Amino acid sequence: MTAEIISVGTELLLGQILNSDAQYLARELSAYGYNLYYQVTVGDNMDRLCQCLKTALGRSDVVLLSGGLGPTEDDMTKEAVSAVFGLEMELDEASKSEIQCFFAARNREMTPNNLRQAMFPKGSIVLPNARGTAPGCIVEKDGKAAIVLPGPPHELIDMFDRHARGYLAKKSDAKIVSRVLRIFGMGESSVEHRVRDLMDGANPTLAPYASVGEVTLRLTAKVGAGESAGALLDPLTDEVISRLGDLVYTTANEKLEELAVRLLKENAKTLALAESCTGGLVAEKITDVPGASEVLLEGVVAYSNAAKMRRLGVNEATLEQFGAVSEQTASEMAEGAKNSSGADYGLSLTGIAGPGGGTAEKPVGLVYIALAGGGETFVKKLRLGGDRARIRTMSALYALDLLRRRLCSLPLETDK
Ligand code: ATP
Repeated sequence: MTAEIISVGTELLLGQILNSDAQYLARELSAYGYNLYYQVTVGDNMDRLCQCLKTALGRSDVVLLSGGLGPTEDDMTKEAVSAVFGLEMELDEASKSEIQCFFAARNREMTPNNLRQAMFPKGSIVLPNARGTAPGCIVEKDGKAAIVLPGPPHELIDMFDRHARGYLAKKSDAKIVSRVLRIFGMGESSVEHRVRDLMDGANPTLAPYASVGEVTLRLTAKVGAGESAGALLDPLTDEVISRLGDLVYTTANEKLEELAVRLLKENAKTLALAESCTGGLVAEKITDVPGASEVLLEGVVAYSNAAKMRRLGVNEATLEQFGAVSEQTASEMAEGAKNSSGADYGLSLTGIAGPGGGTAEKPVGLVYIALAGGGETFVKKLRLGGDRARIRTMSALYALDLLRRRLCSLPLETDK
């Protein structure tokens, strides 16, 4: 089944607004297995709109139109559909009384042109607008369909959810199902190198995406209605995992912090944080996850040596002998966080995020992460590249990954 999107609005052509409606619709269409080959944007001009619609109906089964449903003269989408389909416009009584109620409820005057919003091509399925005054419609003829939706995104999304989604799902002969595998601890090119041959498949497809520190692999299968996508996605998932092992930390598109919180909950364990170079970044990530309060007891940003001693009980002698960025200090920070809070685990980070502060012995990007708990303290030494922001983000992600590895009883050393 093929679909096409026509976005109507001169303001779109002028670049005054971003075409977020088309982005939303495109994503939704692919989820229902529609092939989307064309997206067209056209201004508020009857001739050009009709021309676009004719072309679209000539090459696509379903055409979704957004915008141009308002009461004014430059809103002409339904009229264009009526002209191209060769169907007269007729008044829909139910829409008329809904529009009247909408204005009455808001104590606003209803002008005669608002009634234009109750006119539809004959035989339309009218789609009520729960968020505004302009109803949409579905018009069908000769096996082709036009779905007319309002321009304002909150109205379009609401109408799509309530009415168009079900229609499209029913009409579709296929659906697209995606599964997202997330990988931490290996760069994009290395990941791609290991799965390169799997990326040539047509169904399911495999596509990599990279963000700071993480690589995401999206596996997408297209299946017929009633068929299971698992039969296509499971073997590919297994193959990727057999190549990348425990670097794949989720097959359910969870973020590292979401996984860490979930694992702490499942293991009934609590956490305390002691952060220096990340300045609370790990705490921020963890507290971004709803329900984090069940597992995170506290987080200390101990930036100065004095704070490391006072808040976390790091020994002055340790700081003097080994320095603030050292295995020993990281270890005492993690133990201090754990012991002073009564948490099961203490996780600490200390490092040199740069751009200044590095020495030959301790360069920018040197970071120590320590995890205390279960009767031992493990310290990981990192040599990170990049600017201050990258070093801080990577440190936070490595800390979360270390916690995940401990909670899943995986090897804590990961250098590959
Ligand atoms: P109304 O009933 O409010 O007049 P309408 O269906 O006639 O709605 P338009 O007049 O075309 O829609 O657009 C109304 C507003 O909706 C625009 O000013 C813009 O803010 C937003 N809008 C329209 N089209 C899009 C789009 N494709 N993507 C994002 N926003 C849009």
